[in-house]
Amino acid sequence: MKLPDFTEFEPFKQLRLSMGAHKAGHFELFNKEKHLTGKERSELDLQGKQFPLHRLKRYADTTWGLKNTRLVIYLAEAKNYHLAQCSTTQSWQANQTVWVSTRRTGNLPLGENSTARQVCPDCLQLLGYKGFDLQKNRKIAYSKNLMNTFLREEFFTIYTLYPVLGLAEKQE
Ligand SMILES: [Zn+2]
Repeated sequence: MKLPDFTEFEPFKQLRLSMGAHKAGHFELFNKEKHLTGKERSELDLQGKQFPLHRLKRYADTTWGLKNTRLVIYLAEAKNYHLAQCSTTQSWQANQTVWVSTRRTGNLPLGENSTARQVCPDCLQLLGYKGFDLQKNRKIAYSKNLMNTFLREEFFTIYTLYPVLGLAEKQE
């Protein structure tokens, strides 16, 4: 049996073109549940946002996310920020309000303000980031140096900030 070829069927072709798709299969639906909007993305970068912890995704590689974007998470009063599901973040209650941001350089935002914070060593340990390991004697000096010279900008090229594709979420 020969199926009709709808790719050249005029009404469908017109519909496709009116949707901005010039070739069949060329368009992708924008799903607000799965993708951050442009506004959300700039907000996360510039002001940061507050969420209860349970709204965030726990990616299987132990990083944190919102929709399809990785995050930096932190509490207003604490001096460290977190990149992974370390023991500190695991100790927080599901309804704990946390700040989240995607800012790659400089201080992390708290709305209009921003503060200098240090990366959490437990997060780097958990991720084994660039061989970070404070539990092995021969790696302590190396790891401390890595922490002092740590750049989120570089981290987010290794752990892509956006979009995070095909990474399962951990079951809580
Ligand atoms: Zn941490």
